[in-house]
Amino acid sequence: MDGTYTSTNYDNDDIPHEACGVVGIYAPKEEVARAVFFGLYALQHRGQESAGIATSDGSQIHTHTEMGLVGQGFQEYDLSRLPGHISIGHTRYSTTGSSNIENAQPIISKGVNVEIALGHNGNLINAVDLKKELLDWNVMFSSSADSEIIAHIISNAPANNWLDRAAYTMRKLQGAYSLVMMTKNELIGMRDPLGVRPLCIGKLNDGWILASESCALDHIGADLVRELNPGEAVLIDQNGPKTIYQKERNGKIGQCIFEQIYFSRPDSILSEKLVYSTRMAMGAELSREFPVDADVVIGVPDSATAAAVGYSQASGIPYSEGLVKNRYVGRTFILPDQRLRELGVRRKLNYLPQILEGKRVVVVDDSIVRGTTTPHVVKLLKKGGAKEVHLRICAPPIISPCHFGVDMAKKDDLIAANMTTDEIRDYVGADSLGYLSTNGLLKSVSGEREDFCMGCFTGTYPIPVQMEMDKLVLES
Ligand code: AMP
Repeated sequence: MDGTYTSTNYDNDDIPHEACGVVGIYAPKEEVARAVFFGLYALQHRGQESAGIATSDGSQIHTHTEMGLVGQGFQEYDLSRLPGHISIGHTRYSTTGSSNIENAQPIISKGVNVEIALGHNGNLINAVDLKKELLDWNVMFSSSADSEIIAHIISNAPANNWLDRAAYTMRKLQGAYSLVMMTKNELIGMRDPLGVRPLCIGKLNDGWILASESCALDHIGADLVRELNPGEAVLIDQNGPKTIYQKERNGKIGQCIFEQIYFSRPDSILSEKLVYSTRMAMGAELSREFPVDADVVIGVPDSATAAAVGYSQASGIPYSEGLVKNRYVGRTFILPDQRLRELGVRRKLNYLPQILEGKRVVVVDDSIVRGTTTPHVVKLLKKGGAKEVHLRICAPPIISPCHFGVDMAKKDDLIAANMTTDEIRDYVGADSLGYLSTNGLLKSVSGEREDFCMGCFTGTYPIPVQMEMDKLVLES
């Protein structure tokens, strides 16, 4: 491997998908596998297809992976076979590669220079080139996930320390990668130079924790210290955490703004602000951009609740719950096929008739992607007696796919890429429809345009992407 990046024209008119959750703990006095297990439990919203934990006791790396939910896959017996004081964990929704146990993480890679276990959240855009390069080097693959490419790149990096390994990795990889990694003796966290996906560090008694979101820290009694910077690599060992590498900022960064709108949990802190408060600000902004005479504001539970409260407070229209969600049905979207998604919507929501009857209802939702959910929501509200339904969306129209790790569907499937706002309003059956503007969104996150990736709303990405890449392209 010589460090040069060659571009490939992908000939597939499709895309990679997802978001995953990662956790890492270095804590000699803790039962680390169990703590990681609870951390993953808190990050279950980021992926439900498979879960895995790796640990090290200083002499050997142990792993266990399962398909499905963390709580279903892991039994007491499995945790008891994961000894040690260092652990990483991963919960997966397939971004790249299909949903099967071979693609579950953490991934173990024994390279020429180091053995690591790795968990990855994000999506590479030069995975095909990197895989070719590794195959030329006779590196063997056991999965189709781009995360395995990252693991092999790092474990085979021409370096004998983590500073050089981190610098090499950031030179080679293009795209989104928030990583937790471990050797037998160290825990490493790395965030790509664009800072697309979140990653934070916290203090856990005498030890340390890395996690995709701070809500995972809260659940296991750790305190948030800070988010890792874009382009930062942190190593944690018996001497505590140390920044071993910080890539210089080179113009734009590209934090995913969709984390703020939908993905992250409202009780997480992103860019030093509670996500719930950011979402309230989105709702308030939406009420200024699209005011309407109405009797009640409701949110589509759970992800739009905060925005609905914000809309209500800013507009003076009373807030109420109007829809009830069956908590035991997973996120409709995190079901990789359309038929299951449609059924998911119907199983998921019910309405509160006395709240809605004869009312002019403002209903706030976080986003419209394919347009599968929204017509059902509007129909339910009308069935529940709503006289008018005014739909307000706290994201701009999604017109372009995500290349950096969110399942946004193909361009052809994105309703706003193919219909005008008026057409969408008619299609979903609402009396009016308003999407938050990109400026309103930036105001809500208190951010500058050059700090965020808003590619799904604008079609312009923080680094040039080539053609849409097939999710399964790495399997060929
Ligand atoms: P759709 O039915 O395809 O329009 O999806 C929109 C709904 O799915 C929204 O109400 C969101 O709550 C949720 N959603 C949006 N984006 C995603 C995503 N990338 N993954 C999972 N769920 C999503």
